[in-house]
Amino acid sequence: MLGAGSVAGAGIGFVSEPAVATESPTARTSTPGGKTAAYRVDVAFRAAPSEKLIALTIDDGPTAQWTPKVLSLLQRRGVVATFFLVGKRLAADPTPTARAADSGHAFANHTWSHTDVTHRDEAFIYDSLERTHALVERVTGRAPSLFRPPYGRIDSPGIAACARLGYDVALWSDHVTGSNPSGDVDTTLRQASAGSIVLAHDGGPEPNDRLMTQLDRLVGGLLDDGYRFTTVSQLLAAPGVTPGAIPR
Ligand SMILES: [Zn+2]
Repeated sequence: MLGAGSVAGAGIGFVSEPAVATESPTARTSTPGGKTAAYRVDVAFRAAPSEKLIALTIDDGPTAQWTPKVLSLLQRRGVVATFFLVGKRLAADPTPTARAADSGHAFANHTWSHTDVTHRDEAFIYDSLERTHALVERVTGRAPSLFRPPYGRIDSPGIAACARLGYDVALWSDHVTGSNPSGDVDTTLRQASAGSIVLAHDGGPEPNDRLMTQLDRLVGGLLDDGYRFTTVSQLLAAPGVTPGAIPR
C-alpha cells in the first residue's frame, strides 16, 4: 500500500527504484553534416606485428624547453618517434619541429589548444584539427594522418571530425609519466611487447629532467631487448599476426 508521500504517478505494481548514479554523461551522438560517409575511423592503442617493433609517442609539444632535449636523445639512440603536436604551441615556436622534419620522425595532430574533444561540438573540433593539420603540413612538409585526442577521450563528434580529415586515432598501451618515470620505465620494460605504443610528453605539466633521463633508459633498454622503433603509422601498417591478437 502506497503512503501519502509516495512518488506521484507510482501505481499498484509499479515499484519505484532509486536512480542509477549517472555522474558522468554517456558519450554523445553525432549527425554529420554534408559528408554522411564520414563516420568511421580506426582506433588503436597498440598493434600486433610479427616483428619486434615498438612505437614511442611524444605528446603536448613542441616546447622550447623539452622538445630539443627529446630530439637529441632520440638522435643519439638512432630511433624515431611520433610527435602529437598542439597547434598553438607549434605556431608559437615551429623551429625545433621544422629542424626535425626530415629526421624520420612522424608528426601528428593533438588539437590546436589541447582540447578535450568530448566537451566540444563537431564544428569546433573539426576547426581545431584542420587548423593544426594545415600548420603541421606547412612546418614539416607532410600532412598528418593520425589524431590523438587529449586525455585519450573521444566520442562520436570527434570521430566524425577525424573521418572528415581521413585520420585514424592512436591511443597508447604504456605511459611513462613525469611523476613516476623510473617506476613507469621499469613497468614498460617488463610488459612491453611487439606492437606496444608508449606515451611520454615534451610539453604540458609532465616533462622534467628525471623523465628525460628515464626516457633515455627506456629507449636503451628496449634496443637492448631487440626492439626496433617505428612511427605509429608504420607500426599499424606492419605485417601482423592474427588481427586483434597480442603475441605472447
Ligand atoms: Zn596531451
